[in-house]
Amino acid sequence: MPEPLSVRELLALDREHVWHPYGPMPGRAEPLLVESASGVRLRVSDPAGGTAELVDGMSSWWSAIHGYNHPVLNEAVRGQLDRMSHVMFGGLTHEPAVRLAARLVELTPEPLRHVFLADSGSVSVEVAVKMCLQYWRSRGRPGKRRLLTWRGGYHGDTWQPMSVCDPDGGMHHLWSGVLARQVFADPPPGGFDDPADPRYAAHLRELIARHADELAAVIVEPVVQGAGGMRFHSPGYLRVLREACDEHDVLLVLDEIATGFGRTGTLFAADHAGIAPDVMCLGKALTGGYLTMAATLCTARVAEGISRGEVPVLAHGPTFMGNPLAAAVANASIDLLLSQDWALEVKRIETGLREGLAGAAAVAGVRDVRVLGAIGVVQLDHEVDIAAATRAAVGDGVWLRPFRDLVYTMPPYVTGDEDVARICAAVIAAAREG
Ligand code: PLP
Repeated sequence: MPEPLSVRELLALDREHVWHPYGPMPGRAEPLLVESASGVRLRVSDPAGGTAELVDGMSSWWSAIHGYNHPVLNEAVRGQLDRMSHVMFGGLTHEPAVRLAARLVELTPEPLRHVFLADSGSVSVEVAVKMCLQYWRSRGRPGKRRLLTWRGGYHGDTWQPMSVCDPDGGMHHLWSGVLARQVFADPPPGGFDDPADPRYAAHLRELIARHADELAAVIVEPVVQGAGGMRFHSPGYLRVLREACDEHDVLLVLDEIATGFGRTGTLFAADHAGIAPDVMCLGKALTGGYLTMAATLCTARVAEGISRGEVPVLAHGPTFMGNPLAAAVANASIDLLLSQDWALEVKRIETGLREGLAGAAAVAGVRDVRVLGAIGVVQLDHEVDIAAATRAAVGDGVWLRPFRDLVYTMPPYVTGDEDVARICAAVIAAAREG
C-alpha cells in the first residue's frame, strides 16, 4: 500500500500536476477533495482536517440520476467484474453490449435501429457527424458536409463538436478560424411553454432550404441548450426542423447527451415534440454516472447508405468501445430507472424547484429564473463570481458548479423534498453572493 497522503499534500499535488476541466496548469482553483459519495451526498475533506457532507445539486453534470454508491449499480459492476472487465470489440462481442444496444433501440424513437457504443459524449457526437458526412458521400453527394445548428449550443470538446458550439462568443472561440465552418441560426426565442414563433420557424426553414446543397445535417440539443447557456425552448421548433430536414434532404441529429433518460420530464426530450431524429447521441445518465460510455444511434436508412459506399464501413473503433463494465451498469441503470415511476419523481423535483427558486426572482442582479423537469436555472445579469458563489453554496451544505452568468442545479432523481429545498436555498445564496 502506498503511504497515506494528507489532504494538504493531495491538494498540493493536484494543483501541481492535474488538469481539471477548463483549468490552467498549474491549477489556480482549489478543488474540494471528495472522500466518498453515497445517496445524494458527497463527503469532502478540507486541509484543516475537517470533513463535511454536501448535498449534490449537480448529478455530476447530469449523469448520476440514481445518486452515488447505489447497491443495484454497485452489484452490476461487481457481477460483471467477476466475468470480464474489458475485451476488444473488434471481432468479439458480449452480452452486456448486445443487451444494451437492443434496449436502446427499444426505448428511443422509431426508426432508430443501429447503435455505436462510444466512450464519451464528445466521441458520440464525432461519430454522429462522421455518419452523416459518410452517408452523403456514399450517396454521391460529398458536397453535403456542413452542419447547421443553433448558436450557443454545446456538443463537446473534440473537433467536430467544437465546430457546432458557439464559434464567436462561446468557450471554443479560440479556434474560430480553425474549426470546420458551419451554419448557425440564432437560438430559438421564448421558453419551453411558449408557442413556436412563426417568424423564427420561417427563418429556420429558409436557412435550411438555402444551404441544403451543402448541409449534411442539422444538429441541435432538443428542448434544453445545456452548457452553452441553459436555455429552454419550445418543442415546436423540433417539429419545424424535422419537417424542413425531410423537405430538403438533410439529416437531423439530436444530441440528447444531457437531456436523455428523463431529465426534462419525458424519457427523451424528442418525446416532447413526438419526432424521431435520423441520428441520436446519448451519454451521461446512460450509465447512471458510473462509467464513461455514450451511444450514437442511427436509422437503417443511414446505416445502409454508409454500407453501400465506396468505403462501406463506419471507420471508427475506439479501444474501449462497448466496455462490458460500462454496458452492464448502463443496463442496470436503465432497469432501475424504468422499474420506478421516474416521471413522477422528476415531476416532484420540478415542483420543489419551482417553489424553492421562486424567491430568486427578487434577488438583485437576477435576470431570469426557469425550471423544466429536474433542472433549475437562475440567470444573472452579470458574470458570476464562481469562487464566491461556490463558497456560498458549500457554506449552505450544497455542491453547485456555477458558470458564466448561471447558477443552476440538476439534482439526482432520488433527491428528497427537504434536500431539494436546501439546494434551492443554496442556489439563491450563490446567486446573491456571486
Ligand atoms: N453534448 C451535450 C449536450 C453535452 O451536454 C455534453 C457534455 O456536457 C457533451 C455533448 C459532451 O459529452 P462528454 O463531456 O461526455 O464528452
